[in-house]
Amino acid sequence: MGKVLVIGAGGVGTVVVHKMASLPQVFTEIMLASRTKSKCDAIAEKIGKKQVTTAQVDADNVPQLVKLIKSFKPELVVNVALPYQDLHIMDACLETGVAYLDTANYEPLEEAKYAYSWQWAYIDKYKKAGITAILGCGFDPGVTSIYTAYAAKHHFDEMQYLDIVDCNAGDHGKAFATNFNPEINIREVTQKGKYWENGKWVMTNPHEIHKPLNYPEIGPKESYLIYHEELESLVKNYPTLKRARFWMTFGQEYLTHLRVIQNIGMAGIEPIKYEGHKIVPIQFLKAVLPDPGELGENYTGFTSIGCRIKGIKNGKETTYYVYNNCSHQAAYAETGAQGVSYTTGVPAAIGAMMYLKGIWKKPGVFNVEEFDPDPFMAELNKLGLPWHELHNVDLEL
Ligand code: NDP
Repeated sequence: MGKVLVIGAGGVGTVVVHKMASLPQVFTEIMLASRTKSKCDAIAEKIGKKQVTTAQVDADNVPQLVKLIKSFKPELVVNVALPYQDLHIMDACLETGVAYLDTANYEPLEEAKYAYSWQWAYIDKYKKAGITAILGCGFDPGVTSIYTAYAAKHHFDEMQYLDIVDCNAGDHGKAFATNFNPEINIREVTQKGKYWENGKWVMTNPHEIHKPLNYPEIGPKESYLIYHEELESLVKNYPTLKRARFWMTFGQEYLTHLRVIQNIGMAGIEPIKYEGHKIVPIQFLKAVLPDPGELGENYTGFTSIGCRIKGIKNGKETTYYVYNNCSHQAAYAETGAQGVSYTTGVPAAIGAMMYLKGIWKKPGVFNVEEFDPDPFMAELNKLGLPWHELHNVDLEL
C-alpha cells in the first residue's frame, strides 16, 4: 500500500520498523535512516525482511533530507529522531510535498522548553501545500490523547476533569537509567510542574505535588504531578475541561539520583569548557548512562498508562478510566526493545497506517485527538497494546 521513511534508529525506531515490517500489506517499502547508518543496518538485519532498507542522514541538514526524500519518494516521513529535529524534518516534508508524523513536540537545543507553538506555526503552510502533519503519535502524547478523544466521543457529553496517569512498574536492574533518550527525559522530568485549572496554567515546584495512586494489577505507586506536552493541545481541543493534569510514577532511588545529577550540575544544557573542548554536561551524562535501547533484556514488570476522566453523561456525573498495561518482557521478546520504546513505537506505526489508509489524511498540522479515534483504538487491540475500560470507579483524584 505505501512507502515510508522512518528517521531515527533508537529504541523507538527499532519498534516502529519491526511493527511496520510485520504488516507488509500496509507498509510495502520501509527505509530506516539515521545519523549512524550502522545502527539502521543492525536493526534491518535483525528484522531480516527485504522491504526494509537503510540510509545515512543528518536530520538537522534540510538539503540532505530533501535529497533523501526525493530519491526514495516516500508517502510519509515518520520522525522518531529527537525533538530538536522536528522543524528541520517538517521543512523538508514541506519542500518535497510529503506527509509528516512524529511522537514528541519541538524543543530547542539551547533551552529546556517544549511547546506546540513552533509546529502549529506550520498549519497554514501545510494547508496550502495540501499535506498532512500528525503531531505526537506515541503513547503519551499519542494514545493518551486518543483515549481522551474516544472518551469524549462515546462516554461524555461534557468532560470536566482529566488526569493522565503514567506508571512504569518495571525493573531494569540498573542503579540508574532512563527509559528513553536520557537528555530528553532528564530535561522533561526536572522542569517545574504545571497543570490546567479554571482556564489558566498553575505552576508548581518540580515534584511538589504527589500522592499514591493504584494502578491495575500493579497496586499503589507514588505518583508525581509533572507537566507533559499533550496537556497543551488537549485543553485547547476540549475547552470544557475545568482541570487537566499529568502524573508520573518515580521510585525514591530514581529521584535521589536525579537530585544528585542536578545538584552537581550534570543536568546542565549550557556548554562548559573541559580540557580545551566545549562539552554540554547533560550530553556527556548521556554518553555514560545505560543506552535505553539496551535495557530490554533484563527488564521485568509492566507499564500502566491511562486516562482518568470525570464529567457529565445524560445529565449524570460519571467517571471513566481507560488504560493499557504493557509487559517489558513481552515487548522485548517481540522486538528486542523494552516497554517504553514499544508503547511509543507501536502507536507511531498505527498512526502511519491511518495515514496510508487515507483515514487520517487532511491538509494541515494536527494533534492526534483531532482525528477519528475509533479505527486507531481498534488497531491498538490488534497490534499489541490492548486497552481496558472501567466505568464509575473511584478515580482517587
Ligand atoms: P534514542 O536516543 O534511542 O534514539 C534517537 C535516534 O535519533 C538515535 O538513533 C539518533 O542517532 C537519531 N538522531 C539523533 N539526532 C539525529 C540527527 N540529527 N539526524 C539523524 N538521526 C538523529 O531515542 P528514543 O528512541 O528513546 O526516542 C525517540 C523519540 O521518541 C524522541 O523524540 C523521544 O522524545 C520520543 N518519545 C516519545 C514518547 C511518547 O510516548 N510520545 C515516549 C518516549 C520517547 P544516533 O544514534 O546516530 O545518535
